[in-house]
Amino acid sequence: MKAEIVAVGTELLMGETADTNSGWLASRFPQVGLELQYVTVVGDNLAQLTEVLGRAFQRSDFTFTCGGLGPTEDDLTRDAVAKVLGEEITTAPELLRWLEGVFRERRMEMPAANIKQAGIIPSATSLPNPMGTAPAWWVERGGHVIVTMPGPPRELQFMWEHQVEPRIRERVRGNIVLTRTFKTIGLSEAAVDEMVHHLYGSNSNPYLGIYAKPDGIYLRAIARAQGQRQAQEMLHPLEEGIQGALGRYIWGVDEDRPEEMVGRLLTERGLTLATIESCTGGLLAGTITDVPGSSRYFRGGIIAYSNDIKVAAGVDPTVIEKHGAVSQECAAAMAQAVCRHLGADCGLSVTGVAGPDSLEGVAPGNVFIGVAHPGGVEVLHQRYPPRRPLVKARAATMALLELVRVLKAGVGQK
Ligand code: ATP
Repeated sequence: MKAEIVAVGTELLMGETADTNSGWLASRFPQVGLELQYVTVVGDNLAQLTEVLGRAFQRSDFTFTCGGLGPTEDDLTRDAVAKVLGEEITTAPELLRWLEGVFRERRMEMPAANIKQAGIIPSATSLPNPMGTAPAWWVERGGHVIVTMPGPPRELQFMWEHQVEPRIRERVRGNIVLTRTFKTIGLSEAAVDEMVHHLYGSNSNPYLGIYAKPDGIYLRAIARAQGQRQAQEMLHPLEEGIQGALGRYIWGVDEDRPEEMVGRLLTERGLTLATIESCTGGLLAGTITDVPGSSRYFRGGIIAYSNDIKVAAGVDPTVIEKHGAVSQECAAAMAQAVCRHLGADCGLSVTGVAGPDSLEGVAPGNVFIGVAHPGGVEVLHQRYPPRRPLVKARAATMALLELVRVLKAGVGQK
C-alpha cells in the first residue's frame, strides 16, 4: 500500500522546528506493509495545504498529516481535509463534551477557540487523543485514507501506537517487513561479520546488515513476507543464531538504550549507583537521570573537574600525584571513593582528556572508565578521535555499557 506524509507547520519550513515526526513515522511503516512514497512539508497556508493534500489523497492509499490540529487561526489541517473532500465541518456534541471535560480536569476555563477541535466531517471518524486536546481524524473515501495526527511528537507517537497502527494492521495485508536490531559492544565490525557470516551468507531475505554506531556494532535482521506470522518465522532462526554466536557481546535489542539497560540491571539486582566524572562534565549523570524512575537506584553524582574535588570526594591525593588524574589508578580510586562518599553499591567513574589540548602529558581522546562494585573494581582504557563533543559523548555511553557488561557478568552481585 502506498503511503505519504504531509508535515504541516510554518515553523518546519522556517527551520525553527526539525521535522522529526516524518522520520519516526517512516520507520514504523515497513512493519505494517506501508510503502512510503512522498514526504511533503507545507506551511500554515490553506490554499497550499489543500493543494498538497488533494494530490496526496489522489495518488496514495494512505496519507498521514502531522500538525495543524490546534485551536488557533493558523491550525488549518481540518479545514484543508474538508475542502479536499468537499464536506462541511460541524461540531460533534460528544467531542465537545469530551473537550470540556479535559479542561474541567485541568481546572481551566475552555477558551471559545478550542471548540473548533470538536469539529468533524461526515467521512471522518474521530480517534481520541488522551495526551492532548486535538483528536485525530480517520477519513476514508473510495479506498483512500487520510489520517490527521497531532504535531507534538509525544502525542503523535501515542496516537500511532494506540489508535492508528492497529487499524492499519486490520486493513493492510502482504509486503510486511519485520526487523530486529541487536546491539553489541566489544567487537569490531569485521569480527562481528566473521562470527555471524555462516548464518546468512548472501541471503537477501531474510537479510542481515552490520553497521557501526557510537554505542557499538549493530546487526539488523530484516525479513519480508506476505504476513506477520511468516515474517516472524523467517526471522526466528536468524535471531537464535545471532544470540548463539554473539550472546555475551549483545547489550540490547531494538530501541534499548544503555541508560535503560543500566537501570533495568541495577533494579533486578537490587543495587544502587553513584557517579564521579571529570571530562564528561555531568553528561554521565544527566544521561542516567533521563530514565524515568532512576531515583530508585541512582544515589547521585559528582562532577570532579578539578583535582581537589576528586580529593574532597575521597580520592587519595598520592594516587593523583603518583599516577596523574587521567590514569587507570585514578579512575579506580574515583569509582571506589564515590561509592563510600555517596553510600552506593556501585561507583562509575570517568576521567579523561576531552581535548583539543593534552593534559598532564596525556593526549586528547584518552579516557579511563572505572566500575567499582561489591566484588571489586575494574578499569577500561579507551582512545577516541580527539574531538571534544565526540570524546564526551562516547565516554559517557561507554561508561554505561561497561557497567552493563560488569552487571551482566554477575560480578556486581552483593
Ligand atoms: P497543538 O494542539 O499542540 O497545537 P497541533 O497538532 O496543532 O498541536 P502544531 O501546533 O502544528 O500541532 O505543533 C505543535 C508542536 O509540535 C510544535 O511546536 C512542535 O514543537 C511540534 N511539532 C509539530 N510538527 C512537528 C514535526 N513534524 N516534527 C517534530 N515536532 C513537531
